Amino acid sequence: MDSFSLFDENYKIVCDKIQNAANSVGKNFEDITLLAATKTVPVETINYSFEKGIKYMGENRVQEFLSKEEALNKGFHRHFIGTLQTNKVKQIVGKVELIQSVDSVKLAKEISKQSVARNITSNVLIEINIGSEENKSGLDKSKINEILAEISEMNGIFVKGLMTLGPIFENNLQKSKFFEEMYKIYIDNRGKIKDNIDIGILSMGMSDDFDLAIKCGATMVRVGSALYGKRNYN
Ligand SMILES: *Cc1c(COP(=O)(O)O)cnc(C)c1O
Repeated sequence: MDSFSLFDENYKIVCDKIQNAANSVGKNFEDITLLAATKTVPVETINYSFEKGIKYMGENRVQEFLSKEEALNKGFHRHFIGTLQTNKVKQIVGKVELIQSVDSVKLAKEISKQSVARNITSNVLIEINIGSEENKSGLDKSKINEILAEISEMNGIFVKGLMTLGPIFENNLQKSKFFEEMYKIYIDNRGKIKDNIDIGILSMGMSDDFDLAIKCGATMVRVGSALYGKRNYN
């Protein structure tokens, strides 16, 4: 099957699952933002998916994003979803609508600095390492108040919500425990509105578990292989 037909088939399945999961918690399909995680996917396939209805896309490597950026449909909401090194911030700032992966004060400071230099504001999510896993990106959940307090003093950066990768588990019971904990952190912080903090987005759930994440309160899911087929790397 060619990559376009594969996408068509998969897209329908993903949309049905989103719809069902949303309905099961009293939400509508439109309440959930489906972001296509497009690493390794060729630009022509990504642009094809735009025509079919995908409006949000995210890349997780700076180099790959930059190599695709110009050829991407101009209508895309472009997000950066991968680990971001401080020294690469200047290559990304101003080119994406949302950086989903801010997991340290140091990174936030650099985004602030590069944004102020360009006279813009960068929207970000705070990435939480909800499973407290070693060697995994994301901020420890105990540090959320601290980072929000620090960012509230910065210019050029606006916190729109929270993101997590979530631990990889075989069983849904364990997964939903972490998703529920993440949702609780989201609710606890949602009301804390400051000049540059307004937590509305909860980005969690990927190909294997996006329906579960929606049932646990996700407002945005990031789906790659369930739309485009299996990849050779992560
Ligand atoms: C690749 C990726 C996804 C999507 O992964 P799939 O399992 O293919 O759906 C989601 N979030 C991030 C940060 C990713 O890098």
